[in-house]
Amino acid sequence: MKEKTFRMKIVVLASEAVPFSKTGGLADVAGALPRALEALGHEAILMIPFHRRFLKPSIVLESVGLNLRVPIGPKIVEGQVFSTTLEGSKGVVYLIDQPDYFDRDGLYQSAGVDYHDNFERFLFFCRASLETIRLLELAPDVLHCNDWQTGLTPVYLAEQYRVRAGLERVGTLLTIHNLAYQGTFSRWAMGLTGLDARLFNWEQLEFHGKLNCLKAGIVFADRVSTVSPTYAKEIQTAEFGCGLEGLLSARRDQLTGIVNGIDTTVWNPETDPMIALNYDIATFERGKAACKAQLQRRSSLPERPDVPLLAQIGRLDPQKGWDLLAEVADGLLDLDIQLVILGEGAPRYHELLDRLADKHPGKLRAFLEFSNPLAHQIEAGADLFLMPSLYEPCGLNQLYSLAYGTIPIVRATGGLADTVVDAAPATLSNKTATGFSFVEPNPRALRGAIDRALAAFADRSTRREIIANGMSRDWSWNRGASEYAQLYQEILSLRSSKAAG
Ligand code: ADP
Repeated sequence: MKEKTFRMKIVVLASEAVPFSKTGGLADVAGALPRALEALGHEAILMIPFHRRFLKPSIVLESVGLNLRVPIGPKIVEGQVFSTTLEGSKGVVYLIDQPDYFDRDGLYQSAGVDYHDNFERFLFFCRASLETIRLLELAPDVLHCNDWQTGLTPVYLAEQYRVRAGLERVGTLLTIHNLAYQGTFSRWAMGLTGLDARLFNWEQLEFHGKLNCLKAGIVFADRVSTVSPTYAKEIQTAEFGCGLEGLLSARRDQLTGIVNGIDTTVWNPETDPMIALNYDIATFERGKAACKAQLQRRSSLPERPDVPLLAQIGRLDPQKGWDLLAEVADGLLDLDIQLVILGEGAPRYHELLDRLADKHPGKLRAFLEFSNPLAHQIEAGADLFLMPSLYEPCGLNQLYSLAYGTIPIVRATGGLADTVVDAAPATLSNKTATGFSFVEPNPRALRGAIDRALAAFADRSTRREIIANGMSRDWSWNRGASEYAQLYQEILSLRSSKAAG
């Protein structure tokens, strides 16, 4: 029987969230989902570490007046809590403040090297969050944890907090945004947790002799989700499972894939204040032409309306298919095209891009930095967007591209397979084609997809049709938030039957 919908109280825990801090897609999701849940009539509270140096001056915080005292091994670490609300929403955001841990230049690392005390930092965040929930008597229905940084929360809930008044029935969801980042630390880290040493076994917290925070969350959460149905299937295989495929396939009946939405208050060509000219599905040709000219100027590339402008935005990490791109780049840049890249990451890709830019003057511009306004301007000004990822849990840039009328060229994996429909005779005639995809992760297949995309781009009516198909789809959080709400309901039913049980 279908449960009656009622107002749920959800606490979303994440290590980063827009507009407070961001290194990747997790921040977009954590910043947007609470608002979308609120629009469905639920109460959504966001809890994040207070990464002090990333706070925009326009955001006003209030002290909640709590003095947290969190045991970390033999010491007690004190913390504070600040609160604010998300713009245009009543949803409260709690920022857990501990300057020694979170007042740093990076969220997780500095100059490409992880902070040596990341385990301790996020152990603190997990325990401080539960303390905040307890002291403020928030009594949520569901605690929605995200990625390894919050993986120990369901463990503490089960081991120490469920006995507390108001917390007996809290359900837990762990969402995996990228299985490759598991938060594995030396077995000695167990000593900092205060958890019973018996939990350090291969069926619970241990993974090949180490403490694995993501595994802990997968084992202890009531339900597990990831950010697309295809990735949910892929991670049950050795190729994508990063060693956890056995555990994930054992939990496959409790594993769900929900494709991320986009925050249309931030990513919307009709209202985006960062682009040269706003546009919609009726005016995209004029709007994109103005944005393209602006992007070419900003990139010091010849201002030519006719030349296909390809782009890529993202971490310079092997995951994003840079090795494939490296193999096709020279041949591609010999064509009459322009390429704009925005990203930072592995030094070897920085060097590759510098070398390519020298070799192909006037054709390639690589911005080796993190710049949100530039990301918006590229999405609006480019014609084609490259995303040849080796794996992609969901991917947001292809969604932004679809919304901004920039045709994506993607590898058919994970969320890319779930969101981009390859342009072929059948999908063109039934008006579902939204981009170009290839399957095998090799340079020939990538180049084949790029060539098909360039051919389609040269044909104005095909180009218009593919763009309009992508722009007319609803990429907002409406769908994703309803799917999460459904999942929370299932978790609540599970918890009620356990409590009755
Ligand atoms: P991932 O989370 O794996 O890094 P996603 O595609 O899911 O990849 O999300 C990446 C997010 O980070 C997008 O919002 C993208 O625009 C943004 N982003 C990545 N690199 C940069 C950069 N160098 N400058 C600005 N935004 C970036």
